[in-house]
Amino acid sequence: LSDKLDKALHVLKGHGSITEVNVAETLKEVRRALLDADVNFKIAKDFTTRVKEKALGQNVLTTLQPGQLMVKIVKDELTELMGGDAEGINLSGNPSVILMSGLQGSGKTTFSGKLANYLKNKKNKKPLLVACDVYRPAAIDQLHVVGGQIGVEVYSDKGNSDPVAISKAGIAHAKANGYNIVIIDTAGRLAVDEAMMTEISNIHKAIKPQETLFVVDSMTGQDAVNTAKAFNDVLNFDGVILTKLDGDTRGGAAITIKSVVNKPIKFIGTGEKMEAIDVFYPSRMADRILGMGDVVSLVERAQEQFDEEEARKLQKKIAKNQFGFDDFLSQIQQIKKMGNMKDLMGMIPGAGKMLKDVDIDDDAFKGIEAIIYSMTPKERSNPGILNASRKQRIGKGSGTSVQQVNQLLKQFNQMSKMMKMMQGGGAKKMMQMMKG
Ligand code: GDP
Ligand code: MG
Repeated sequence: LSDKLDKALHVLKGHGSITEVNVAETLKEVRRALLDADVNFKIAKDFTTRVKEKALGQNVLTTLQPGQLMVKIVKDELTELMGGDAEGINLSGNPSVILMSGLQGSGKTTFSGKLANYLKNKKNKKPLLVACDVYRPAAIDQLHVVGGQIGVEVYSDKGNSDPVAISKAGIAHAKANGYNIVIIDTAGRLAVDEAMMTEISNIHKAIKPQETLFVVDSMTGQDAVNTAKAFNDVLNFDGVILTKLDGDTRGGAAITIKSVVNKPIKFIGTGEKMEAIDVFYPSRMADRILGMGDVVSLVERAQEQFDEEEARKLQKKIAKNQFGFDDFLSQIQQIKKMGNMKDLMGMIPGAGKMLKDVDIDDDAFKGIEAIIYSMTPKERSNPGILNASRKQRIGKGSGTSVQQVNQLLKQFNQMSKMMKMMQGGGAKKMMQMMKG
């Protein structure tokens, strides 16, 4: 018996758990989550293809907790997509020059302050801020306000309209005054244009910064990608700063930017305050993009859909008089999985309401399962052939008695009859039968 049981269980492992249909369904949801989070369509599609391959390769279908494994695969793959471990900033120069680039309003000035504050608190780091946004006097004032807040000196030259000259002078000032980090804040435009690109490119060529950072507003979604590409073409920047992640954006732009320009995201901005800066961690971002709770629940939803589909198939079989012991068994597996007999009854189309107050012990299934496992496939799908000698064999094989086998057959026949009746004509006939 034990051998047969093992074999049957092995076959059944896939039953009632996630199926290939579920995997597809789940991946569709994941893709939707990515698109909602502003991930580029092609990237999202490639991504789900890779996850599918992995899921099938790892035999997700036959594991005990397919849902959890799916979630893990999705998360790992997403994390990898956004880059491995957090990458720091190159501070090898003396002074180390960090150049900010990005559109107007992306958060360059704010981030310059945040970064200066962040580095200032490290051992032996002495940052200087340099104001190279020469078009608006208010921009220079803004950097001075920021510098005042964090106690970092700001170098500026209001009479000078040449950002290249100011940046050079700023670096010279740093050297002369013992600053070992120079953060250069620049001007941006509302959209990519040639004048801005030429200007930032000229500064870049003139000062040869150790680190060129591209600052981007995460709320701008898909546009952020085009901007990133334009800046990268000109500057070949070293890293991306994703700002305004405190908003309700899911930050999918992070994935797309990373995929398109293949540069690491180094820091994120999570608020207007100077302390609202965080090192970028791909795995945390993956959680955010997927909304971990969402993914877990969508996997569960896919599972429910699967159950519904099974119920529909079952209904068809009943209608065609093809309901057999294999179906009976898979119903039992389902109930046991759910841990409640009432639920099983609920799955029998039409029977749920009538039987909802009946309580049945889970242990009651043990004998039933053993008997069914001892049947041949032919006997399971065609119980009519069960004669005395077959029953005897099954009783022996299952460690039960012929009486118990007969009892199960009786129950099975009653159930089939009842289900058949539910199908054609419904509860009315049933009530009549019970009365009569
Ligand atoms: P710049 O034009 O690139 O220098 O952008 P600013 O640094 O002036 O920032 C533009 C606006 O975005 C300002 O109102 C900032 O306070 C705000 N800002 C910048 N970074 C963040 C952030 O991470 N979160 C939030 N909520 N606002 C930010
Ligand atoms: Mg600014």
